[in-house]
Amino acid sequence: MAKIKEDCIFCKIANGQIPSNSVYEDEDFNVILDISPASKGHALILPKVHYDNAYEMDEAFAAKVFPLATKLAGAMKKALNCDGLNIVQNNEEAAGQTVFHFHMHLIPRYEGDEVDVTWKQHESVAEEQSEIVKQIQKEL
Ligand code: 5GP
Ligand code: ZN
Repeated sequence: MAKIKEDCIFCKIANGQIPSNSVYEDEDFNVILDISPASKGHALILPKVHYDNAYEMDEAFAAKVFPLATKLAGAMKKALNCDGLNIVQNNEEAAGQTVFHFHMHLIPRYEGDEVDVTWKQHESVAEEQSEIVKQIQKEL
């Protein structure tokens, strides 16, 4: 059972102990504006209970995250008149996570902006791909 974690800034923000620009709140989540936005309207979905990352999240709670993300994305598209929107969620330092309380980024995109959510593409041979499929399926 997930709980609030002492000394976690996002636990405090999500539960209103530290003020934020909240755009949406319900019993499970607080959606706030990012303090250092990648673009105008960059928002963060914060669960009110603490999960370090996505691996820790139970299925029932996880099932609530994406419906909220799509609701917010639709509202932000209309409100901000953005040209696109990235939904991004980082797990662990190697993936760019800097605050270790699960959160999902909603990043509005505007033609010509300098937001970088891209990667270099690499080749992958068929054998390697089928080995990867097997390895992942073993863990499901
Ligand atoms: P991460 O790199 O962990 O995926 O994203 C952390 C995000 O949280 C960053 O975009 C950062 O600007 C934002 N952030 C960090 N501290 C605060 C804070 O105190 N308030 C708000 N609103 N956003 C924060
Ligand atoms: Zn937390």
